[in-house]
Amino acid sequence: MLLTISTTYSPATDLGYLLHKHPARMQSFTLAFGQAHVFYPEACTEACTAALLLDVDSVGLVRRPQGQFAENFALAQYVSDRPYVASSFLSVAIARVFSSALSGKCKDRPQLVETEIPLNAKLSILPCRGGEKLLRRLFEPLGYTITAEQHTLDSQFPEWGQSRYFTVTLENTCRLSELLTHLYILMPVLDDEKHYWVGDAEIQKLSKHGKDWLTAHPEQESIVRRYLKHQRGLTREALAQLREEDVQETAETVQAQEEEQLETGIGLNEIRLATVTETLKQSGARRVLDLGCGEGKLLRKLLAEKQFTEIVGMDVSHHVLKIAQQRLHYDRLPEKQKERLLLFQGSLGYRDKRLTGYDAAAVVEVIEHLDVPRLSAFERVLFEFTCPQTVVLTTPNIEYNVKFENPHAGNLRHKDHRFEWTRDEFQAWATSITKRFGYTVAFQPIGPVDENVGPPTQMAVFTRKQKI
Ligand code: SAH
Repeated sequence: MLLTISTTYSPATDLGYLLHKHPARMQSFTLAFGQAHVFYPEACTEACTAALLLDVDSVGLVRRPQGQFAENFALAQYVSDRPYVASSFLSVAIARVFSSALSGKCKDRPQLVETEIPLNAKLSILPCRGGEKLLRRLFEPLGYTITAEQHTLDSQFPEWGQSRYFTVTLENTCRLSELLTHLYILMPVLDDEKHYWVGDAEIQKLSKHGKDWLTAHPEQESIVRRYLKHQRGLTREALAQLREEDVQETAETVQAQEEEQLETGIGLNEIRLATVTETLKQSGARRVLDLGCGEGKLLRKLLAEKQFTEIVGMDVSHHVLKIAQQRLHYDRLPEKQKERLLLFQGSLGYRDKRLTGYDAAAVVEVIEHLDVPRLSAFERVLFEFTCPQTVVLTTPNIEYNVKFENPHAGNLRHKDHRFEWTRDEFQAWATSITKRFGYTVAFQPIGPVDENVGPPTQMAVFTRKQKI
């Protein structure tokens, strides 16, 4: 079983630092089920490839005490794919051999760990129960470009059809620790099998390695179910834990009310929502998205406008979506209104097919909640993959904060804000978007404009250029 990881980051040999394995050395590790070898078929400044070769001891596996490795058919001892495919064995090997890289540690180069680099992972044989479709549903939302070659069951008997084995290449620009965690969790999920007993410890692993991306993954439930070998009790517990993390995270966000209080003095929220609604109307849009819809204040305004025939509210938090549903009295809405409104959970960090085909998107006071390293993923999700004709996006203008009495420590309006931008910073960012994704942009102040520090909220209206 062979996994290779390549990069063209410059200098590419930095991969050696990230993996804690020197490119010039070949290293071997003894594991309970065989040997793992790490070596670099290629290591120069322009390109570097690290290989993890897993040599599973097939005879040893059969001789292990019952229960440790039990396949459920009579000839399993003689015909087993386990030594040759990417499975939970490879996950265990990754955790052992690349443990620091998996947890994103690098004493010598801490900054490098945080850097998103171009990565290409190739799995020589990956079993996919659920086929290419599932493979894509698991990896594409995480930003991967996938190449998959399916193998026939037996080349001498093509009539036997296709096997569940694929040679897969995954490409992404992300942190190495992200790539490794995605592989670590998703390989056994695709295989839908594990070679060891699954108990509470697996929930901890899921939570440790999955918390940054699993809470928002569209396939969260099937990932958790398969990872825990379809054990209902464990699955329920793990999903509850992930939701709990979501609630904790959003408890902070719900405190956005604090921010609102800061801004109520000038009735800013109302002005902002009215301006966004009006701008969406002017754009001529009929089918609109409210991304990061929170408790649904904008959705309420959009529902009141007949022009909007389809309105989607999406938020990363199940918790605020529930609040939105209650506040909009969704269950009691007349059928006609209900048909116009769709609420679902999703994250702006992930490519999501459900978002395509809409005329316009509102992203109101959301980007400042995103971690700066995740901004580039958001940009691609919205402007490259979702690509509505119009995007109306607002964010605080940090310059205005001097006019508030009690901004939070660090001079930001809210504890959960990762950043707030000056007018120049915002305009530079928005302009870079237009250049990369084929949009034009116009800026508009929202709220009372101060002659020195500008308005409290800044709005950018992006319009997609016509494709020639
Ligand atoms: N647009 C709303 C809410 C703003 S608060 C309003 O103007 O009232 C920011 C919202 O963004 C929160 O509800 C938060 O859960 C959501 N959010 C944060 N990160 C997100 C992400 N990656 N994807 C989708 N929504 C996100």
